[in-house]
Amino acid sequence: MSLQARAEIEVLGPPVARTAIVPPPGSGAAARRLGVLPMPKLEWNAEVERSTAHLYEKIKAVVPPVEWPFFAPYVKAINELKQKRNAVILAHNYQTPEIYNCVADFVGDSLQLAREATKTKAEIIVQGGVHFMAETSKLLNPDKIVLIPDLLAGCSLAASITGADVRLLRERFPGVPVVTYVNTSAEVKAESDICCTSSNAVQVVESFGTDRVIFLPDEYLARWVAKNTKVKIIAWKGHCEVHERFTADELHKLREGDPSLQILAHPECPPDVLEEADFTGSTSAMSNWVKRHQPKRVVLVTECSMADNVQTENPNVEFVRPCNLCPYMKRITLPKILDSLVYLREEVEIDPAIAARARRAVERMVQLKN
Ligand code: SF4
Repeated sequence: MSLQARAEIEVLGPPVARTAIVPPPGSGAAARRLGVLPMPKLEWNAEVERSTAHLYEKIKAVVPPVEWPFFAPYVKAINELKQKRNAVILAHNYQTPEIYNCVADFVGDSLQLAREATKTKAEIIVQGGVHFMAETSKLLNPDKIVLIPDLLAGCSLAASITGADVRLLRERFPGVPVVTYVNTSAEVKAESDICCTSSNAVQVVESFGTDRVIFLPDEYLARWVAKNTKVKIIAWKGHCEVHERFTADELHKLREGDPSLQILAHPECPPDVLEEADFTGSTSAMSNWVKRHQPKRVVLVTECSMADNVQTENPNVEFVRPCNLCPYMKRITLPKILDSLVYLREEVEIDPAIAARARRAVERMVQLKN
């Protein structure tokens, strides 16, 4: 374990970068109970064009007309199958526009999605997002069937730490409370006292009234929290491979080209990138900021699809790239969502003992927020 001391933050981490962990396939219990449906016929014809025209209208600024004949048959089939299956689709802000705008029932950040899903009477949840998000949905909706359309939709941040790592940290810092970001596996949440999101991280850290808190696993979010609190932060060297690629230099050059450009950055970005930003916040906070301020030109320093999705709701704002693609989020596609609904796979299953402890950590955060 390497160690770098800071005035108000101490960063620990694994000696080598971990790659995303592939979870085991579901047991198939949901498919055995509810049965597999026939695969719908997928073709582009006048009826498909007519019945999906209102959906294409929403995304025409970001999806060229030549692509719609491929997407539309899937959109129609998925929306019909949702009714048959009594299912809803949750789409994270980083999902592609045709998923986010045309088949999703709820959109937002990971926690918003899981909480929204608790209010629906649907029996099945299909997660448009990555595996830790599907686990969070399952934690908050234990009686529902939660499906992830691709088991390889992982996350570099969630893969950076294991439950065993958290237990070792607890041994090393006895009595120090453990806060984990929601971008973690259920196993890691189960070893934590409470979870947090990028929007409530400082509030959660200060809720203990202690002088030190272990904050896992995102190093840059931890540094951002440390800057905004007097509590000493013991952090972990986990990084989001999408946000860590941005540089202060590229933003500096953009600003030089247009001093009126508004720069909005996610707190998973490195500290020098956040220094260049006019606003730092979660995906939902960035989206709300654009809606409220309606800037002439803006750059969202985060995953690429975010700008496409916010653009559909703010047609008068010009969105300047750069952006970086998340390879895990992009594993979720319309054909895979359709497969999920037809075959009811892959079902997210969490060991009940782990689920009970992980749910407690998430619910503590939710209670704190209220
Ligand atoms: S954007 Fe980063 S934190 Fe989000 S799923 Fe992709 S790798 Fe994980």
